[in-house]
Amino acid sequence: MAAPEIQRIVIDNCAIATVDADDTEHAVGHLVLAGHRIESVGAGPAPADLDHVVRRIDARGHLATPGLVNTHHHFYQWLTRGLATDHNLFDWLVALYPLWARLDERMCHRAAQGSLAVLAKGGVTTTMDHHYVYPRGCGDLSGAIVRAARETGLRFTLARGSMDRGEKDGGLPPDFAVESLDGALAATEETVTAHHDASFDAMTQVAVAPCSPFSVSTDLLRESAELARRLGVRLHTHGSETAEEEQYCREKFGMRPTDYFASTGWLGEDVWMAHCVHMSDADIAAFARTGTGVAHCPSSNARLAAGIARVPDLLSAGVPVGLGVDGTASNESGELHTELRNALLVNRLGAHREKALNARQVLRMATHGGARVLGRAGQIGSLEPGKLADVVLWRMDTLAHASIADPVTALVFGAPAPVTASFVGGRQIVEDGRLLTVDEDAVARATREEARRLARIAAGD
Ligand SMILES: [Zn+2]
Repeated sequence: MAAPEIQRIVIDNCAIATVDADDTEHAVGHLVLAGHRIESVGAGPAPADLDHVVRRIDARGHLATPGLVNTHHHFYQWLTRGLATDHNLFDWLVALYPLWARLDERMCHRAAQGSLAVLAKGGVTTTMDHHYVYPRGCGDLSGAIVRAARETGLRFTLARGSMDRGEKDGGLPPDFAVESLDGALAATEETVTAHHDASFDAMTQVAVAPCSPFSVSTDLLRESAELARRLGVRLHTHGSETAEEEQYCREKFGMRPTDYFASTGWLGEDVWMAHCVHMSDADIAAFARTGTGVAHCPSSNARLAAGIARVPDLLSAGVPVGLGVDGTASNESGELHTELRNALLVNRLGAHREKALNARQVLRMATHGGARVLGRAGQIGSLEPGKLADVVLWRMDTLAHASIADPVTALVFGAPAPVTASFVGGRQIVEDGRLLTVDEDAVARATREEARRLARIAAGD
């Protein structure tokens, strides 16, 4: 039997920002997608004599970029948006943990669907979910989240989190929401075995992700690092988010967060951390020296009054930096495409404003930078022949953007751009702003029902 022919999709007449190593851009160019991969990208029209073309898209008026990559999130928080709106991080956590401790499988599945749908509609093609709340008797939460990612069609990394430092051990989470050290490690290994795919085209990967220095024992941090390295998967956690976290680490461990992470095996090319707001010059140098990555979450940091991360300093030191939305209990929108503008503007308010970010640096963080911190820069994050066909077409000829000459400036500085089409591995998941994979109105109704059910259960009804 003959091998099945590879089917081609030809996209012509669009501006293209490839985000390759040279920042190659084309004012008018073409892309050819062949099966899961990008076959060609370049200036002018696509070759005329291609076989097996199943679709031709005239993309005039559009900018093509790599799909956006979200490097920090907590999907379950979709059910607890808009609460504790005036709290700082520690008070916000204490207010919300009693709700989160009642999560079950159906809630996590619906919350993940809602989170994924909003990301996808805004041009995200790869996301992660840091899930660290596994209350006793909660069912297979990891399986429910992975299923939601498959249904929505996004490329996905589940950062299997854990907490073992409950209130009785001086941590913040209530005791019934934490796991034992051995239980957390065994469940994490099971999740890697069940869901991690190391192949080039992988749609699902798993990282080992204990929650934070103030909810996890030193032993769990250290043994998680050993587990991840034995299994050949990546490591993720929260780090240097707030002044209170730094104070906590000084009091409990006698050192700053980055030194604490270094002492537990948590700096390295296989590690990325969310936030990294309160970083000294020495901390940044340690991240750069070891290749440790950062997920920059400007809206969440503003929402919780955590501070402004030193992103220009991180980038100039050579630290890999991606963008993240963080959980939607601290960033109610859950959209990544609006984070590009927020990252740019917030960093211009920081102490380092004289060397603040430009539009192309921000687009790079949101694409190639994100791919780097997820360990997938060889496969996604730029538009280059041989890479996976994760591509977004942004409409730039409407009232919102048409008078801005440079499309990358329009995308980052301007209003959120409409997504005409989004492809993951050559499969189209968004058309004219609507999801093709799940019924978003049904997801909206279901998430509202689950949010109400969670509130009722937590209230003891
Ligand atoms: Zn977070």
